[in-house]
Amino acid sequence: MADKLVYSSKINKIRSFALILIFVGFAVMYGGLLSKNIEWLMLTLFLLGLLFILFSCVVYFWIGMLSTKAVPILCPNCEKPTKMLGKVDACMHCKQPLTLDKDLEGLEFDEKYNKRKYRAEAKSRMKNE
Ligand SMILES: [Zn+2]
Repeated sequence: MADKLVYSSKINKIRSFALILIFVGFAVMYGGLLSKNIEWLMLTLFLLGLLFILFSCVVYFWIGMLSTKAVPILCPNCEKPTKMLGKVDACMHCKQPLTLDKDLEGLEFDEKYNKRKYRAEAKSRMKNE
């Protein structure tokens, strides 16, 4: 049960990842500033920091692409609009686990149900019970 509370939606997860990348990028560039006496080190750190920031831009772009593919729904728990990626995701606002697959309703929430193989296993397990 505690798992459900800490679970955050995929889009939010990727977004925080991109944010962390930006901070890392700036930290590395700041390291470059501190080591300006050693030219090659400064250049390397600056380029590295730039790479982190560029990568984070790519990730942000990717989120944009994902968002267009995500299914917009109204969360049944908090009644706010949220977006779902894949068959199993969590509400962006209240972290309520959500599924688009009726057969999985009532099952213990697990991200691995996004994979077809696990879904099939879970369904056959339910039938046998
Ligand atoms: Zn919600």
